[in-house]
Amino acid sequence: MVREIPQKVVDAILKIPLPHVERPDHLVWHFNSSGIYTVKSGYHIAHQAILERQREKPESSFKLKKEAWKVMWKMKVPTKIRSFWWRAYKNILATKENLFKRRCAVDNLCPICEKEVETTEHLLFMCPWAKMVWFGCNIKPLGDLGGNASLIKWIADMMENLSVKEVVILMGRVAQIAWHIWKSRNDFVFNKTKINPQHTITSFFHAEMECLKAFEIPRVHMDNPANQEDLPTWRAPDEGRFKVNCDAAISASGSRSIAAVVLRNWKGKLVDGLAKSVQVGTSLGGELYAIRAACEMLISLGLKEVEVESDCQQAIHLSVSELVPPWDVRALVMDIRHFAKEGNFLFKWVRRAANKVAHEVASLAVRNSLPCNWIVNPPISLVTVLEKDVNESL
Ligand SMILES: [Zn+2]
Repeated sequence: MVREIPQKVVDAILKIPLPHVERPDHLVWHFNSSGIYTVKSGYHIAHQAILERQREKPESSFKLKKEAWKVMWKMKVPTKIRSFWWRAYKNILATKENLFKRRCAVDNLCPICEKEVETTEHLLFMCPWAKMVWFGCNIKPLGDLGGNASLIKWIADMMENLSVKEVVILMGRVAQIAWHIWKSRNDFVFNKTKINPQHTITSFFHAEMECLKAFEIPRVHMDNPANQEDLPTWRAPDEGRFKVNCDAAISASGSRSIAAVVLRNWKGKLVDGLAKSVQVGTSLGGELYAIRAACEMLISLGLKEVEVESDCQQAIHLSVSELVPPWDVRALVMDIRHFAKEGNFLFKWVRRAANKVAHEVASLAVRNSLPCNWIVNPPISLVTVLEKDVNESL
């Protein structure tokens, strides 16, 4: 049978991580990022054209508007973001297209790519730099709709296919990212600040952390990097305690990923670790693999209340919150949340400089230079980083 399935499909299937904690199989619906399928949504996809026409009827669009407002009201985001999102939804943002229509602009072109009309959808979702931001945030709203992307339609689809709770969470996240894109775009237009997708992604993650804290969204353990003493180096755990660092590396060809885990005691001594070749589709997948492997190692060693550190903000974020995970890493995230409760682990996002040892193990392994007895007899480059961590930690 495998021979009849195209190689591309086989590769994609092999990259889906499997859960380690037994739970019933879960069908995913790749038409939305939550992967949740409902009969209603299948019907919906099949009859999109008909529904589209129905939506254009005034009474149905009025009903949708009312429903959309209700959902937006429930989003756990600052008021300024809610009001921005409502304006985007009603298509009354000061985009070039809207300004041009009101004769307030000489043209309607996107000021950033200068190639397309700057509609709300282009500005927030379709402009190449905006797409990079969504990619970096591992979420793809309106992504598959191409030139026909419509915010109203996307919101209608979501409300059709997901529960209210899920729409509120997902839309809150999308509204926040969109707001940061809008802010960066305005900084570019009015202050000539260079467009930098990574800056926009980082400022979104920081703001979202603040938001989760402000609204007290339930979480297992939350260490807020914004409030945390910003340590540039590794810190040994308190006496008698352990700490585990996680990282992932991808080979230069992109074909192989390594998930690395390093367990040390309060003296900074290497206690255990692993470096495992994993098949994942994204770097986020690799980082989550490492965190799950770390949790499993701790559980098998009977260690509880251990600090688990990673330099991947999004992986930590997904591990500690109750956000709907992207479907392709769902199995990993659900396992981690399960183990976190079992072992009462404390997840922490740290800077790269504080995660050097795990990084070194992953990079050695990806280059096939990590000896199999590395824990007992670590290679010299690893010894150097381990000693540096201990010295800086004093
Ligand atoms: Zn553009």
